[in-house]
Amino acid sequence: MAALWDYPDFDDHEGVHLFRDRAAGLTAIVAIHSTALGPAAGGTRFWHYADGEDALTDALRLSRGMSFKNAMAGLPMGGGKGVVLADPARTKTPALLAAFGRAIDSLGGRYVTAEDVGMSDADMVAISAETRHVAGLPVGQGAAGGDPGPLTALGVFLGLKAAVRRGLKRDDLAGVHVAIQGVGSVGGGLARRLAAEGARLTIADVDAGRAHALAAELGGTAVDKADILRVEAEVVSPCALGAILDAETIATLNAPIVAGGANNQLATPEDGTRLQARGILYAPDYVINAGGIINVGLEYLGQGDRAEVEARIAQIPGRLDQIWDESAATGDPAALVADRIAMRLIGRG
Ligand code: NAD
Repeated sequence: MAALWDYPDFDDHEGVHLFRDRAAGLTAIVAIHSTALGPAAGGTRFWHYADGEDALTDALRLSRGMSFKNAMAGLPMGGGKGVVLADPARTKTPALLAAFGRAIDSLGGRYVTAEDVGMSDADMVAISAETRHVAGLPVGQGAAGGDPGPLTALGVFLGLKAAVRRGLKRDDLAGVHVAIQGVGSVGGGLARRLAAEGARLTIADVDAGRAHALAAELGGTAVDKADILRVEAEVVSPCALGAILDAETIATLNAPIVAGGANNQLATPEDGTRLQARGILYAPDYVINAGGIINVGLEYLGQGDRAEVEARIAQIPGRLDQIWDESAATGDPAALVADRIAMRLIGRG
């Protein structure tokens, strides 16, 4: 096994913290990529990984992604990520969440957590009993904060419209066919917004019942999860897990635009080049999906209200346009351009 700093995804992380509390059933990783702009912020994922290496790779990639995302979102926050390794023999318990809260607290504010896949706002409330370095807590109406999913969906929706404007030269979504992979918090919220503006939806989820119910409600079509990335559509919107765009899936994409909320959509950096070579307009994931972190970031920092959150999310399309302009001018893939701008912002350019 390689030393941690030899991992391909290590990328000079400031710190990688491993936690175990046997009594509470907790095994967790907190990766802190950068605190150059402020406390490292990024949600915690609760997931059943094949092994510890898988979990570590995920934590490192997600944490670096958060550095870039927070910098591009204009937040005074660095990037980090929590990963709790779900044990198939045990469920998430109050003791486990409390132990994780204590683990976060031991980092003294260098890392701030919130929800990610497998974690709910109720879990954040449980964690908040042990540490104040947590956001995504229920808040009053009109305040910044609370479940980030719907605000991530808002940003993805606005970014997808910007991609349609640029790629299809259209200002409206009437009849525009969008294929959504994963209709949970982000994908489901996106689907509702798209349906409200007349888009045509094809959706898939590993939870086929969920996909069918939403398709019936919104007047779309549910397809098998194996087929969603190949659907002939105007936009493919990955809103499930990462690393789904690789040589194989990119070769069979049947849409001129990829714009979705999932983190780390590209399996490797070369996949950005592959998308570009196929003439597919790609919205870099961490730019288009920043709505949730803008929401919980302002909550944690105590800056601004819901209106301020929405005003900042409304800047996402402009950032995408800046990236696509630079991509067109330099010939570099959009994902690479975004990384370059973000690296400059965190002082590593
Ligand atoms: P979620 O758990 O609510 O929803 C994910 C959905 O995807 C679930 O319904 C799940 O069944 C489905 N799914 C998983 N694998 C699938 C597959 N192979 N094919 C089809 N469906 C599949 O999670 P979420 O909060 O909606 O997050 C979705 C993605 O967006 C994740 O990559 C997450 O990291 C990213 N993201 C979320 C937020 C947020 O605010 N929630 C913010 C930024 C990025």
